[in-house]
Amino acid sequence: LVSVKGLHKSFGDLDVLKGIDLSIEKGSVVAIIGPSGSGKTTMLRCLNALEMPNKGTIQFQDEFNINFDAAPSKRDILTLRRKSGMVFQSYNLFPHKTALENVMEGPVIVQRKAKEKTKALAESLLKKVGLAEKMDLYPHQLSGGQQQRVGIARALAIEPELMLFDEPTSALDPEIVGEVLRVIRDLAKEGWTMAIVTHELKFAEEVADHVIFIDGGHIVEQGTPEEILKNPKEARTKQFLDRIL
Ligand code: ATP
Repeated sequence: LVSVKGLHKSFGDLDVLKGIDLSIEKGSVVAIIGPSGSGKTTMLRCLNALEMPNKGTIQFQDEFNINFDAAPSKRDILTLRRKSGMVFQSYNLFPHKTALENVMEGPVIVQRKAKEKTKALAESLLKKVGLAEKMDLYPHQLSGGQQQRVGIARALAIEPELMLFDEPTSALDPEIVGEVLRVIRDLAKEGWTMAIVTHELKFAEEVADHVIFIDGGHIVEQGTPEEILKNPKEARTKQFLDRIL
């Protein structure tokens, strides 16, 4: 579905991504793991130009290609953004909008879709994430896990080709993590293509088809969960796994 080549990103003097090549198969779940500060979040944000890469290309199947070697057009950036739905670590919901309004925001305001049709879609998505009873509540009236499930419904509402999750459970209390992981697991079963930055290695092992280990702005190794999490070849991967398991 997506092929990324030679992606570079720096902040001032700090080179964070030093040439990332990866591909994401349609219908697959890719888990991105690695030490703190290795560039995982930056890489995910570059995939939908929330951070602008300095160099590299992102190709969607055969139909869309965006090249960051020179500044891409606004139109290309918007096209790229519409292809992926981002779920943030800290939810990023609008505090003065209800759960339903938060989910409708993207399609109605950004994509200019009809309100009535979008409302029906938003309601069905909130039901899907188990929030049928909570649609009219505001973020502060919801638990962290519920807010994150609104965040997932909101990302789904733009009907993206790819779902991006940035450490979706790391702000949650341990007992609430499960309800969010369950929703992500269901999406995987439905065949959504997803890239997930996560510290939940057990979850990665269970749900991911492909695991990418990043360190120091490079992909150190990638492969099946079995290959990377159970039988890593690279010393850096072994060291990382030893430290957190
Ligand atoms: P963690 O697991 O701790 O979230 P990460 O692997 O996701 O880490 P990133 O958030 O991608 O790491 O950060 C990689 C590096 O880039 C860090 O050194 C960080 O300080 C730096 N960085 C990230 N965003 C910015 C920014 N907007 N401006 C300047 N530096 C940034």
